[in-house]
Amino acid sequence: MLAAQILFMLSSHSSETKSILIPSKGHLFVACNLMIVAAMAIAEIWLRTALHYHKQAVVICGFIVSYLMYFVLEPFVDGAQMTLMMPIMIALIYFDKRLLHYLGLFSIVFYSVIYFGLERPLLDKPLLEFLMVECVFIVFAVMAQAVIIRARETREYLEQLTRSEQELMVERAISDKLLKMDALTGLYNHKSFHEYLDSLLEQCESNGLRLQLALFDIDNFKRVNDTYGHWVGDLVLKEVAAEVRSLIGLNDFAARYGGEEFAVIFTDKSFQEAYAAIEEIRLAIAAMQHPYAGGKPITVSIGFCDYQLGDGKETLFRKTDHALYSAKRGGKNAVVTAAVSRKDDSALSYA
Ligand code: GH3
Ligand code: MG
Ligand code: MG
Repeated sequence: MLAAQILFMLSSHSSETKSILIPSKGHLFVACNLMIVAAMAIAEIWLRTALHYHKQAVVICGFIVSYLMYFVLEPFVDGAQMTLMMPIMIALIYFDKRLLHYLGLFSIVFYSVIYFGLERPLLDKPLLEFLMVECVFIVFAVMAQAVIIRARETREYLEQLTRSEQELMVERAISDKLLKMDALTGLYNHKSFHEYLDSLLEQCESNGLRLQLALFDIDNFKRVNDTYGHWVGDLVLKEVAAEVRSLIGLNDFAARYGGEEFAVIFTDKSFQEAYAAIEEIRLAIAAMQHPYAGGKPITVSIGFCDYQLGDGKETLFRKTDHALYSAKRGGKNAVVTAAVSRKDDSALSYA
């Protein structure tokens, strides 16, 4: 705008226009222009340095700039009143309906003051022009309101979309978990156990990760069912599973492998550490109280195997299974470790 004014001044020396600011008093134009620049600079500094009242700063600056601009443009531009709509646009920037109403009303009133105070007495502007300008203000404010309403609807729609997406994610996470978990015990199920073991064995082979597998089988569980009923059996399964889960480490993995069989995978432990952990679990299970099941201890037999590189899943399972079988045959309530030195299927009892 400043550049246009300078161009205008350079190209024409006589300005035969009627104005509130008499063109001969050129310093007033300069003052207006300087005040515009100053208002904008102050607002800019405020926005960059102050923490509060940003909106107020923009509104006040918008008012000052629009009215000063109006006085500068008015002598040369028909319909310069349109610059007075700038404050209404500020409400649009913030999508603030209340601000729009205030600014719209203020603009209408303020222009009336300017018209009846300055333009009519000094420039003899027709009343129709005043009415038209005020009407344009109103139309513009109504349109701005429509934009704000539309923007709010869009925002609500987006929020709704985000919300339903979040709900969907939660649902997916829950159903994922349900697919991986055993409903009765809350441990991982057979399928996720195998998936996890497969990926761990891959890491064992490629990165030399240490791994031990333990297979648990509850001793004489059929008798518990037959004597106290199936629901007592279920309760025992739940409690034993909870005990196993509470005793394993963060890097260990417990699953319900079958009916009354559990599997635990240890990953960051030495053979001795894992063996000590499994022995602790066996003793803890044997020490549990089951008043509803006749108060007799429930014990488990455990087959335990330290993974040997190159063995593969099948051999690991065969060894562990044989160790478990040996534990059962040897009188139950024991941990039996699969032989490590020889690659045959013999088992070595530690219990
Ligand atoms: P052993 O010491 O040799 O392991 O004897 P056992 O009685 O525990 O073994 P067996 O394989 O003969 O019986 C296992 C029983 O586990 C049979 C079955 O009814 C019971 N069982 C399997 N799944 C469930 C279950 O989800 N709930 C209940 N209550 N019982 C189950
Ligand atoms: Mg069994
Ligand atoms: Mg059993």
